[in-house]
Formats: sequence, C-alpha cells, structure tokens
Amino acid sequence: MTENTARTWILGFADRVITAEPQLTAYDQAAGDGDFGNNIGGAVALVRTELAALPENASAREVLTATANVFLDRVGGTSGPLFGLLFQALSRAVGETLTPATLAEGAAEGLAAIQRVGEAQVGDKTLVDALSPAVDALRALAPDTNLDKAFDVAATAAVAGARSTRDIRARRGRASYVGDHAIGVPDPGAITIGLLFGSSETG
Ligand code: ADP
Ligand code: MG
Ligand code: MG
Repeated sequence: MTENTARTWILGFADRVITAEPQLTAYDQAAGDGDFGNNIGGAVALVRTELAALPENASAREVLTATANVFLDRVGGTSGPLFGLLFQALSRAVGETLTPATLAEGAAEGLAAIQRVGEAQVGDKTLVDALSPAVDALRALAPDTNLDKAFDVAATAAVAGARSTRDIRARRGRASYVGDHAIGVPDPGAITIGLLFGSSETG
C-alpha cells in the first residue's frame, strides 16, 4: 500500500462531492436552509488546495489532519465541524498508513465524537444514519479483507443508510424544523457519507 492512498481517497471524495453539489444543495433547500452543498463543496475545494501544498510523500495522518483542519476551522454550517471531527478521528487512528483496521477504528471514533456533540441517534435523519451502519460493516470485516473491499462494504452500508433517511421525519438539525416537508427528501449529510466511502450515489 502506498503512502498516497489517503490522498487518493480524499481527492476522490472531493471529486464526488463537486459532482454531487447541485443535488446536495437541492436536498438542503427542500428540507433545510439550502447551504449544505455550498458548505461541503467549498470545503473540498479548500482541501484540494491544502493537499496540493503537502509534500508528495505526506503520510496518511498528514493528509487527514490537513483535511480535518479545513473542516474544523474554515467551514460553516453544522456539517463543517461534524465532518471535521470525523476526519480528526480518522487522522488519529490511521497514523502513517490507511488499512481496513485503522479505517474501521477511525470511523468508529469519528461516529462517537459526532454523537457526543450532536446527540443524534440512528433514525433521526442525519449523517449518523449512514455512518453508523458503515462503522458496523467495517467492524465486521474479516481480518484479511483488502482496503478496496473495505471501502466497498462501507459504501454499500452507508448508501443503504442514506436511502433510509428519505422516508423519515428529521429529529435533529434544521430539517427537523420542517416536519413532514422533509419526507421524501434524503438527508444530504448521509448521502455525503456514502460519497466519502467511495459511492457516487446521490439519490
Ligand atoms: P446547517 O443545518 O447548520 O445549515 P449544513 O447544511 O452544513 O448545516 O449540514 C446539515 C447536515 O448536518 C444534515 O444533512 C445532517 O446530516 C447533519 N446534521 C445536522 N444535525 C446533526 C446532528 N445533531 N448530528 C449529526 N448530524 C447532523
Ligand atoms: Mg444547511
Ligand atoms: Mg446553515
């Protein structure tokens, strides 16, 4: 595994977010305040610039720390700090090299941090609905699973979780202010967790 795996991962995530940005904006317009696409799209644009400034052989930790710092320090909305906590936990757990085991540990610690701060449970129509099943899927992997497979399994679980947000009313975040109007609209944060693990699904 090369040291650039984390960079390749995060740059792929940035590409998927930029492609999905109009759809993510539309979801937050329908069930929130409309800024999600701009918040997350602006974040990954800044991340691209920060990663380009890192040395070519930067470690996974350096890549993920730079990513976390963008989200924590420079991104607005609820999603900025919450994704920042996820990337911060990933940077701590992953260390020098991204592996299925360190990915699982970082994602689990990120989920725990997000739930400590945001207090959302599965079923509240937030990104927790996608991240929690992804963590469960990563933890259940056989020890000899390769990294590509680990991302696939996490993405499949996250996408199923994100789809499940479509038919429920939100109990956290701004989408909870609009009651029944959020029904039929998937949670854009949950969709973005699918994008993080490698899916291109936006629906
Ligand atoms: P804001 O709601 O402040 O405008 P964003 O639009 O940037 O923030 O982010 C909205 C996303 O944040 C939602 O799609 C949801 O996934 C996530 N979110 C909101 N509240 C919570 C929470 N308490 N816990 C976890 N995720 C949350
Ligand atoms: Mg919003
Ligand atoms: Mg907002």
